[in-house]
Amino acid sequence: MAAPKYLECNLCGNQQIYEPFVPAVCKKCASQWMEARYDYEAFKREVLRGLPNRPSNMWRYQDILPLRDPDSLDLYPAGGTPLWLSQRFARGLGHESVYIKDERYGPTSSFKDRQAAGAVAAMLENGPYPASLKRRVGGRFGHLENGQSAALLDKLKHDKLQCVMAAHVSHKNNTAALAQRALARVLDCADDDVRVACQTAGFDWITL
Ligand SMILES: [Zn+2]
Repeated sequence: MAAPKYLECNLCGNQQIYEPFVPAVCKKCASQWMEARYDYEAFKREVLRGLPNRPSNMWRYQDILPLRDPDSLDLYPAGGTPLWLSQRFARGLGHESVYIKDERYGPTSSFKDRQAAGAVAAMLENGPYPASLKRRVGGRFGHLENGQSAALLDKLKHDKLQCVMAAHVSHKNNTAALAQRALARVLDCADDDVRVACQTAGFDWITL
């Protein structure tokens, strides 16, 4: 990937070097509103060549995404949602044509899928796991993050559901409290009503 050439403060204009995984705070005015500046001219040359052999999702633009070696991970294919030509809004908005980006096709129907996929992949790449485990965690059928688990639970839940147990909650990248909060929100219950299985001891008998 192309690391940002530098970070630029949106308030005072200060430019400073980009350091991965260091909170971006302006060293002059302490603002946290920093813009990453890339070598866009170099990237433009690539784009104009059509980015051949790249997938039609966000990783198409891997040159300006924070991964060193995108090919080493099974990357979650967020992005690439369709762009529809609207027949209705163009005239009212004073344009010849208007296209609508349809984010309903993303896994959580939100443009934040891209941001989450990029952040998770970057943290994974820099994390302590061996390459094979990184590929599995990062892949489509690897691990669920709390939001995905909550979305799945939302689809599965029904009136007769009596007990929900979160299992295999990562010690490194998650906490029981975060998992409970995400799932409890879907179930509309107290966080503590969601049980969490211990990775070493499992869980005790449950009376229903
Ligand atoms: Zn500043």
